[in-house]
Order: sequence, then C-alpha cells, then structure tokens
Amino acid sequence: MLPQEIIRRKREGDVLSDAEIAFFVKGIADESITEGQVAAFAMSVFFNGMTMDERAALTRNMRDSGTVLDWKALGLDGPVVDKHSTGGVGDKVSLMLGPIVGACGAFVPMISGRGLGHTGGTLDKFDSIPGYRTAPTLEEFAKVTREVGCAIIGQTADLAPADKRFYGIRDVTATVESIPLITASILSKKLAAGLDALVMDVKFGSGAFMNEYDRARELAESITEVATRNGVPTTALLTDMEQVLGDTVGNALEMHEAVDFLTGKHQEQRVYDVTMALAAEMLSLTGVAGDVAEGLRMASDALTSGKAAEVFGKMVSALGGPTDFIENTAKHLEVAPMIKPITSVKTGRVVSMDARKVGLALVALKGGRTRADQKIDFAVGFSDFIKVGQTVSAESPLCTAHIRDQAQLDDVTALLRDAIVIGDGEIAETGSAAAVR
Ligand code: URA
Repeated sequence: MLPQEIIRRKREGDVLSDAEIAFFVKGIADESITEGQVAAFAMSVFFNGMTMDERAALTRNMRDSGTVLDWKALGLDGPVVDKHSTGGVGDKVSLMLGPIVGACGAFVPMISGRGLGHTGGTLDKFDSIPGYRTAPTLEEFAKVTREVGCAIIGQTADLAPADKRFYGIRDVTATVESIPLITASILSKKLAAGLDALVMDVKFGSGAFMNEYDRARELAESITEVATRNGVPTTALLTDMEQVLGDTVGNALEMHEAVDFLTGKHQEQRVYDVTMALAAEMLSLTGVAGDVAEGLRMASDALTSGKAAEVFGKMVSALGGPTDFIENTAKHLEVAPMIKPITSVKTGRVVSMDARKVGLALVALKGGRTRADQKIDFAVGFSDFIKVGQTVSAESPLCTAHIRDQAQLDDVTALLRDAIVIGDGEIAETGSAAAVR
C-alpha cells in the first residue's frame, strides 16, 4: 500500500477500507508516513469527511497505537466510567463530578488535560493544590481509584500516541476543526483508558471550542455513535457556554469554588445543573442507577450527606496534597496580592457575555497559557461574575479581579468591559441544552 494512493482516494471523496486506515495510522505512529503526507490526509478528510465506519476504524486504530488500560487486571471490580468535556471557560465540573460519582459506587479514574488558549484545564486546577501529584504511577492511580472511588490525574501510560503526532500536525495545518478527526482524536485517548462507559459534555457558545449549537450537536452525535460502535456505551449532553460557567475563572479560585460546592457552602445554579445532569448520566449508563432520575437522586444524596466532599478530601491526601484540604482550603491555596472590583461604565442589562474573551483575559494575567511549555500563575483570575440577564448601574461590579498589580488591573478591566455587553436589547437565544443518547 502507498500512502499517496490512500490520500488520493480520500481527496477524490472515496470511502477508505479498514485495511487502508489501519495502514495509515500505523504509518503516523511509526513515522514511516511523512508530516506532509499526514497533513495532506488531514486536509482531504477536512474537505471530504468520513463515513461512520471510517471514523470508527480510525478511532480503533489510533486507540490501539499504544497501551490500552485494563482496569479489571488493575483490581477495579466495578463499573469504570469517565466524563470528557470539550472544554469551556470556568468549567470546573470534573472537580465535583468525579467525587460525586465515586461516592455513589462507580469507579472514576479520570484522565485530564492542561489548558491551552482560552479554555482552562482540570489538571492546572489540581496543580494549584500544594503537593498534589498529577502524574502518579499507573499502580498508584489504580490504588487510589480502588480505595477512594475517584482519582483525577494527567496521562500516565502511553495512550494513543498516534493522536499525539496527528494532532500536532493538524494544529499547524488548520485541520483541527474536522468532526471526524476530532471524534477519533478525543475517543482514541478515552477508549485507550479502558472505560466501561463514557459521558461527554459537548459545549457550545462563545466560551466553547465549537461555538455553534448545530456543529456541537453534530460532534456529539458522531462521538456517541463511534464510541458505541467500538464497544463503549456513550451518551452526550450539550451544554451552554455562552457565559462563564459558575462564579469564578482562574485555577485556585475555581478549586475554591469546587470545594464550596462539595461542602454545600455555595452551589451556583448552572454549575449545579450541569454537574448533576452529568452525574446522573454516568450513574445510569453504568447501571449503578436504574435510570437517570434515580442517578439524580443518588448524586444529590452523595452531595448532601457530605460523602462526595469526603471522597474529594481523601483523593487529595492520597495523591500527596494536604490532609485537611476540605476543612482549610483557603490556607492551602495561593491568593493574589490585589483583589479589586471591575465596575461597569454603563447602566442596563447584561445582554451577552463573550466567554472566550474572559478566557483570554485570564491568559493575559498568565493564569492560562498560549504554549504548552508555559508556567501559569494559579492565584490570578476573576470571581463573583455577573450573569447574563442581570441589571447593572454605572460603577456597580461586573466581577472581582484577583491580580498582581495595577497594570494587570487596567488591562483586564478593559478586556472584561469589552467581553460583558450591557444594553437594553434582547438576550441572545442560546439554543437548548439536550442529551444525545
Ligand atoms: N481535543 C482533542 O483531544 N482533539 C481534537 O481534535 C480537538 C480537541
């Protein structure tokens, strides 16, 4: 087989066979196929798409390019489930969801990523906890999951290495935004993580990776179909990222919001709704709950009984963090030296919020990164966000900035006033959140 023949066939819109896809993925992984050829293949798929059969074969072959975890062999004798979010500004849902689902009797070995660009990463939020190890050995990861119910870490084993090379090439050749390629990229890593079930949180809106609802829905349908064809029952929820999720944006601040949520001190409504809906899906998909309604009740009980907070605390200390993190959260998290309100210059109603611009404002404070090797400042960010639909008067706060100095305050004040649109127009229709099962 010749790579250029496979590329030519995809360029002409032909449907590739399993054998052709297997050959191409092998060549991506062992680098016998050149970067130029991988790029040309990606561009051909970008323009001509792939059938569900082709997507399933691409995903399966990319999954098998490295280690595929076997949790039964690692001692987990119950259902193993994870959630993957396509990412959004202020999305701290994993921090609460893992412990809630773990407290209900499923095992949640959650493999998370770092943030890049305007969306944050779960791993960066855990890095804000002193001592917390996000890269334990596989055995330790399994032990904590087995004993506590949940462990949230970064990638340990060599999962889907073909995706690493493929994604790197797509990133610099403007071929990331292809639904078949995104499907295979996300799922190859998730399926290599050896799950019994997966729930996707596919976000749409200004703060999401896919802005348009219809495209997000198309991605959700592609992912659920391809994962299920590859033997992992998967459902997806489409959730709204037209404004920041929750009250805070910034690593230590979001960690604090998560602990307040778990301990019942403060539960912002949209965060509550998304977290509980995902928990209910995970519990019903694994059979721990008979259906979504029962899953919701179980998740709510785990929260109100304090069991989910207990799981979180045990996970933090088992992975090297403080033993009193839940009780003394503020003592352990870095605090920015300057905390000041960002005020409105207009009177009116918040008609929209460009969550992407808020994410970029965090990057401007060095609370996020534009290159994978950059260090980030955990303390900076924003809290007490105003919501779309609320009214403000001139001089009333839009949010609170946690910054290092006056220059940073001046910068982000301009950025946030631009991101939060105040007027007297209609509130933009955001589309309705839905489940894809
Ligand atoms: N995230 C991934 O892991 N892969 C993509 O292709 C896009 C987003």
